[in-house]
Amino acid sequence: MQERLENGLVVRVTGGEVWVRIGQETVACSQRGRSRVRESALAVVAGDRVTVLRESAGVGSLEEVLPRNSWLSRYIDRDGSERVVVANIDRLFVVAATADPPLRYGFVDRVLAAAEWGHIRPCIVINKMDLAEPGQWEELRAAYAPSLYELIPTCAETGEGMAELTGRLGDGVYAFAGESGVGKSSLLNQLDPELDLVVDDVAEKTGRGRHTTTNSQLFRFRDGFLADTPGMQTFSFPGTDEYEVVRCFPDIRHIEGPCRYNPCTHSHEPGCRVKEAVEQERIPASRYQSYLDILTGIRERAKKKQW
Ligand code: GDP
Ligand code: ZN
Repeated sequence: MQERLENGLVVRVTGGEVWVRIGQETVACSQRGRSRVRESALAVVAGDRVTVLRESAGVGSLEEVLPRNSWLSRYIDRDGSERVVVANIDRLFVVAATADPPLRYGFVDRVLAAAEWGHIRPCIVINKMDLAEPGQWEELRAAYAPSLYELIPTCAETGEGMAELTGRLGDGVYAFAGESGVGKSSLLNQLDPELDLVVDDVAEKTGRGRHTTTNSQLFRFRDGFLADTPGMQTFSFPGTDEYEVVRCFPDIRHIEGPCRYNPCTHSHEPGCRVKEAVEQERIPASRYQSYLDILTGIRERAKKKQW
């Protein structure tokens, strides 16, 4: 078989191998080619667009990782760095429940901020609308109106909101993130009853890679792909610079006019336009609190690193 370079999409990464979707086929690739070229080459993740050199049927070697349009990353405490979980996500659905588990604005806002950080377009799914308290929906609307994030009310039990979700799914790569118990699996089952999150088709067919730990993977999902988002329970914002957090809060970022101090972290400084906007309720209190919590997290990390 003649060797040729082809473009593909990474669907699974295990310790040693990278599974790449090329057309309707999945090819198991080694990373030999890459380490030869560049020792410190970027770690490849699910969702990466790559070029592959085919070696024989179903086998190839990964040659190049193409630049990413977007990425979802998190902060890893253990090594004090940002780790990319999945790349080239077209839309991130941040799922929360009205109750059971109780809605935590802080968690939702951390994931939203991480999406902004990685240039992903997020929208918010409010599930378990059947359990909503009177006034809760209006409160949520008020909290997210200035950010312009879309808010989609759903109920996985009755199918409410499924048409709205379906309308946002095409042939791209999608991810659903949220605390456990909010109803992600229930929603995904409603959207695609064929989806098998336990064993993906590649491992099924070949029997390989079944019991190896995967870093991240993509599943066939309707006309596109679904990216899994492992370990979102304790999700930390990926950035490490206090001054960069505001970029990830569109409602805070859009406050006009300079603060007295430049740069300003918009937390303790006098003459801060952001604090003024919070007092005037132009920035929702819950959003500002989430912003402050992320800043606190970053400061604590910085202190830890000094020790
Ligand atoms: P996941 O951990 O986010 O994947 O959540 P699951 O899909 O496993 O759902 C957790 C529990 O919530 C299950 O008992 C579901 O039946 C229940 N559930 C999911 N969606 C709804 C909903 O819209 N309304 C109500 N009342 N319960 C729901
Ligand atoms: Zn300020």
